[in-house]
Amino acid sequence: MVFNDSWIFNDSWIFNESCAGCNRPGPALCRRCRFSLAGAATQHNAVGVVAALPFDGVARQVLHGLKYRNRRGVARQLAQLMVRRLRVGTVDLVTWAPTSGSRARARGYDQSELVARAVARELGVPCRRLLFRSRGAPQTGHNRVERLHGPSFRARPLVAGLHVLLIDDVVTTGATMSAARAALQVAGARSVACIAAAATAAARPAAHGIGARHLAVAS
Ligand SMILES: [Zn+2]
Repeated sequence: MVFNDSWIFNDSWIFNESCAGCNRPGPALCRRCRFSLAGAATQHNAVGVVAALPFDGVARQVLHGLKYRNRRGVARQLAQLMVRRLRVGTVDLVTWAPTSGSRARARGYDQSELVARAVARELGVPCRRLLFRSRGAPQTGHNRVERLHGPSFRARPLVAGLHVLLIDDVVTTGATMSAARAALQVAGARSVACIAAAATAAARPAAHGIGARHLAVAS
């Protein structure tokens, strides 16, 4: 019997028809793309969000695959990468910044939730939906107010005294994470750590204007 690399390096991958990173036939994420992701630099942004990957190259393909091409099998690989590479400190509960309802419904799933649940499994802690969007156009999920100021959230009061780990798939300006973190703090969370699978160039500290504005929102 011949064992290929995927048997050796991947224990329980969901085998899609091709790699989400490079489209070659094989597992959800081929060995070459895994190595490419493992070698990427972690990203720190101005609003305190840490991301495992820059949102470009293979990472961009993989995250687009998760979001738009139903490549749910990569959520676990991304979660493993996030947990291995990012310091998450003490965590009692994992949650996520939910995608607007209309978008998640159209897609049939919320990719941030998939990543959050996979991260929670890696950490061995519960994952709960704690956040709800309290503003945003239901038809488009992207009205003018939200584009200008970012979304706003309300949180369930289940977090009082707990260390919460907040997950997003891709962080852009950081406005979503800042708003979600603020809602969790208002609900009484003892601490809120924010991590993402990837960060766009706009999320990195070089974008001073954006970072400073959202830092003010978060404070
Ligand atoms: Zn690949």
